[in-house]
Amino acid sequence: MHNIKPISALLLIILVCACAHQAPKGLSYSSPCETSLASLDTKFSGAGMHGCKVLDEQTFLIYITPEDEPPINPSPWYAFRLNPKQAATINVRLKYAGYDHRYQPKLSEDLQSWRRLTPEEIVRQKKTNAEIKLQLTDKPVFVSGQELLTTENYDTWMDKISSATRAPVSIIGKSLKGRDIKMLYSPASEKTNNTIVLVGRQHPPEVTGALAMRSFVTTLMLNEEIANQFREKFNIVAVPFMNPDGVELGHWRHNTGGMDLNRDWGPFSQPETQAIKNLLDELVDNQGQKLVLFLDFHSTNRNVFYTQTKEDESTSYDFTGNWLKNARARLPEYEFERAERHNSDLATSKNYMYARFNIPAITYELGDETDRKLIQTSGKVFAEEMMKLLLEHETEK
Ligand SMILES: [Zn+2]
Repeated sequence: MHNIKPISALLLIILVCACAHQAPKGLSYSSPCETSLASLDTKFSGAGMHGCKVLDEQTFLIYITPEDEPPINPSPWYAFRLNPKQAATINVRLKYAGYDHRYQPKLSEDLQSWRRLTPEEIVRQKKTNAEIKLQLTDKPVFVSGQELLTTENYDTWMDKISSATRAPVSIIGKSLKGRDIKMLYSPASEKTNNTIVLVGRQHPPEVTGALAMRSFVTTLMLNEEIANQFREKFNIVAVPFMNPDGVELGHWRHNTGGMDLNRDWGPFSQPETQAIKNLLDELVDNQGQKLVLFLDFHSTNRNVFYTQTKEDESTSYDFTGNWLKNARARLPEYEFERAERHNSDLATSKNYMYARFNIPAITYELGDETDRKLIQTSGKVFAEEMMKLLLEHETEK
């Protein structure tokens, strides 16, 4: 008798876990979604959690569901692979679990170069469903809400910067599922305590923010005059991939603990945010570093910077106002807004970093569909203008 209770409890846990991600009736995740023309699968990093159903020989229905029960941020993420058995026209219907279609479908054969689907390939795009029609060769293609930027891409990118600049990459903690949370750390070559902190990808689908961060950090690490000067006088701390579990598993918003990490700066209840907290304590309390700026990269429906209000600006030289003004003057084609926000009780990175360190703490948001070249060029300009201002004002103290 004594053995029965733990077993029932275990069974209950298994049932509960299975239900949380269960597909609607008639749709299954695991059984092959296959016809004589093609199959559809999600067995790769960053794939969404979809139910799949064959409607006819050339039509698949996928049902797009979040990682947790609603309510959840409306970011219906999808990514699947179509494996044609011969050249064929394949239709895929996307059906959202009560959420609106948000991400314009993009396609890649090699996970490197991506293109948006053409209007001809999008048969229908309504509020809660969409249908795409693809002329396929015999090569597999990935279809995804945004470019797939997963662990492998981050590792390659950080290693490349690290070997070019000798800035070490280290592991500052593990995610709930045991994935590495990595930091790129560029120590100032002169004796200085000034430090900037950059973080990204708390929210898995926010790929445009990740692309901007990539451009921004790469610019800081270039062998160019301003970047070299900057790295002499400032320590750079970059943690670009805070929610690896969420990204790998195709989450809409949360880590695997069911938490929005950008509502956990303060409680620090999750290992991902705890890793950042420990890092900050080490840098500031133990090493005596002086933080001068914090940026957190995200995506939303437009390009926007969430900043402190003008009255709450912590620098005497108005870093925030001048940074955005100087970048805007160089970027006439990049439309963006400054959205000033008073600090609130919300446990976001921005609120926490401003309240604890009294520094400009800014959420750097990119539009979901902002032109990719413009993300690249604007990221570079924002990085250069940041370096100029900080070199001018923070080094004489
Ligand atoms: Zn976000």
